[in-house]
Amino acid sequence: MENMTPLYRQYKSIKDQFSDAILLFRLGDFYEAFEEDAKIISQELDIVLTSKEIGKGKRIPMAGVPYHSLDSYLSKLVQKKYKVAICEQVEDPALAKGLVRREVVRVITPGTLVEDTLLEDKNNNFLSSIYALNREYLALATIDVSTGEFFATEWRGKDAEEIIYSELVRLKPKEIILPFSLKDLLSELLSDLKREVDPKITLLEDSYFEPSDHQISYSEPEENYPLAEKSINGVLSYIKEVMFTIPTHIERVEFYKPQQYLILDSTAIKHLELLETVREGQRRGSLIWVLDKTLTSMGARLLKKWLLQPLLNVNAIKKRQEAIKEFLDKDPWRREMEEILKEMPDLERINSRINYNTATPKELIYLRQALSFLPLLRKSLEKAESNRLKELKENLPNLEPLYEELDRALVESPPSHIKDGGYIKDGYDPNLDELRKLLRESKDWLINLENRERERTGIKSLKIGYNQVFGYYIEVTKANLNLVPSDYIRKQTLVNAERFITPELKEWENKILHAEDNIKKIEEELFQNLRKKVIKHSKDITTFAQTIAEIDVYISLAKAAREYNYVCPQITNDYEVIIREGRHPVIERMLPPGTFVPNDAYLNKDKFIDLITGPNMAGKSTYIRQIALIIILAQMGSFIPAKEAKIGVVDRIFTRIGAWDDISSGESTFLVEMKEVGNILSHATERSLIILDEVGRGTSTYDGISIAWAIVEYIHNKIKAKTLFATHYHELTELEKELKHLKNLSVAVQEKGKDIIFLHKIAEKPADKSYGIYVAQLADLPKEVIERAEKILFELEKGREIKKKEIVQLPLFSEITDSKLEKLKNEILSLNTNELTPIQALLKIHEWKELI
Ligand code: ADP
Repeated sequence: MENMTPLYRQYKSIKDQFSDAILLFRLGDFYEAFEEDAKIISQELDIVLTSKEIGKGKRIPMAGVPYHSLDSYLSKLVQKKYKVAICEQVEDPALAKGLVRREVVRVITPGTLVEDTLLEDKNNNFLSSIYALNREYLALATIDVSTGEFFATEWRGKDAEEIIYSELVRLKPKEIILPFSLKDLLSELLSDLKREVDPKITLLEDSYFEPSDHQISYSEPEENYPLAEKSINGVLSYIKEVMFTIPTHIERVEFYKPQQYLILDSTAIKHLELLETVREGQRRGSLIWVLDKTLTSMGARLLKKWLLQPLLNVNAIKKRQEAIKEFLDKDPWRREMEEILKEMPDLERINSRINYNTATPKELIYLRQALSFLPLLRKSLEKAESNRLKELKENLPNLEPLYEELDRALVESPPSHIKDGGYIKDGYDPNLDELRKLLRESKDWLINLENRERERTGIKSLKIGYNQVFGYYIEVTKANLNLVPSDYIRKQTLVNAERFITPELKEWENKILHAEDNIKKIEEELFQNLRKKVIKHSKDITTFAQTIAEIDVYISLAKAAREYNYVCPQITNDYEVIIREGRHPVIERMLPPGTFVPNDAYLNKDKFIDLITGPNMAGKSTYIRQIALIIILAQMGSFIPAKEAKIGVVDRIFTRIGAWDDISSGESTFLVEMKEVGNILSHATERSLIILDEVGRGTSTYDGISIAWAIVEYIHNKIKAKTLFATHYHELTELEKELKHLKNLSVAVQEKGKDIIFLHKIAEKPADKSYGIYVAQLADLPKEVIERAEKILFELEKGREIKKKEIVQLPLFSEITDSKLEKLKNEILSLNTNELTPIQALLKIHEWKELI
């Protein structure tokens, strides 16, 4: 080490403390990475890998990014799940004696972002912490440092892992922390997560999950959530480690139970395409895409939360409905509110940056802008009649004094380079005013000086200028040098001119530079004071932000209801679900207006299983999904795409959709399918909704039918959950005869000669045959193929007839005589299958066929 440069030694000692992060080391105008880090960032960021000499003849790899574009490079590294430590020069290089002091000022990890440039507006940026005692007792704490939301839960039971997994799929954390010691126990959960959510997984020493000295308040007594507390500890220790502090607004954890809400497990979120489509993973084509008409990022995030956590409490749902209805009924009022919403910055995030002390004066100005609408909002909410909106009005915080303070302190429109000051208003602080006056006067003095010197010397072209190296100077052209007075001190010679200073000028310069520095300092101080005042109102700002978010969501849902013609469903605690003329909220948006065919649904204690048969492409999946989506919408408080509906709240929605094969997981389709069905059968309750689409498809026809049959029977006799089962196996329609709570539905089609018209209308009767081949025709398969398929189908159907008869009439091989069988058996036994070619095998089979 002694032979290395001091700079390298400094680097090394810092890097040693952050060995698990990429260290970006500030060197002048660049952030440089060295050695392994340099190789990584050169590859990931596609930048040149160079080298730096760190001792005699010794060079190490180096790669760097310019300081002013750090954010965009950081965002790439964070997306690729790296942990990055930013090491700054913490003293002015001009003033430093020897090596500039450097310190890591911030560690960036995907789950602990607060930087505006690194966050997605409409999505939370969650960090989750998992803790477990065993696979049947798990806890989860989740925080969004950028908004201050912090909540925790725990679950004990056979489905604990599944529930926690579903929570994680719902929250989609960017980073998950857990103790090293749980890595093996939870390996299955982790590998599923990797596939579905793909967060950064950070393993920590167990000590992180022990209590620390940070005080935090809980929404309920913590004894009720002993395990969740461990995961909360994990969050706090980790934040403290990477952020070097726990931002002041992180002060409260909300305990919740997943069963307080309609539980949507990971498969349901995915298969019902609530947030993105299954195939392309796009927002377009998802339910949120149709629903989201929010005007603020806060509203967009809340809407998503509501969508994934529909309610169970009838009154709570009704409260939301009333608020939506009010905005739907009072159009001018809604527009008035929208004008306010449009002006709202992302208050939650600004608030957290103010608390974490990374906010800029600009953000305080945004905050002031938001607060300036408070009186208007208060006044507007006077009109509220629905309970929830009235409540929001009552709870509006008194932030007007804070607004007044900010208004007195901050200028109207901030200067573009806010770093140089100029954001504090004149008249706010006497000291600042004094200095500014001084500065202004001295600028006038400078202009005077120029005139004075011109007169004194008789040099008309004399000018005063400024440069970085030696500050203010007097410039005289070569031709006039003979007129220069003796008190001028020569500083620089140019081609055509010379530059001078005078003691008077330098004395003045000192004063003005001093004043400029002082002004900056005072503004800085005033800013910090303002910040502290804002922090005192942190809780109130959060309440204000949440009010804005909630109103935004009501208005968004009201607008959706109006635009798409939704109605307000009746919500009850009964078992029954009745939907009249229901529509699929997303598919109807994808089709030409007015072409979607509405359908009814009736599920009650008498008939709670619907078996829907019909050809492919008839609309079975659409129908069963639309019922699930309508129930989700209804329970989140939204209006729904139907003419009329009565929804008995559902506690959980299970889906098994066979059409998408989970090939990526490497598991066989059938195994995945049976696992999912197993999960449904063990956790569904009478109040659940089960959606089964083409179950049993992953195996041979008869296996499939038998399994599907057994599953339906089990639900019918044991679980009694409302169930929608779509299948193209007609054989299953026979179930109606045996299961009294099951009814057959089918999607009507009309045959026109060889053509078939899909009517998309659900009828209360079983389908009479399969129309797969017609669909092939629709899909423009070559004529030859279609004709051939028709022949095969004909043969097969004939075969099936025979077989049916045979099953009833007994021995399958009745006509085969014993001697023939004997001969066959001997032949088969004498064959050496290892030597047989496929062709020979086929010929053999042919021979045997001839024989019998
Ligand atoms: P299945 O599950 O029976 O194979 P789908 O439900 O996937 O059929 O429907 C196939 C297509 O038919 C959908 O993509 C949609 O374009 C159309 N469709 C389905 N239901 C309706 C409906 N009620 N009204 C209009 N078009 C529909």
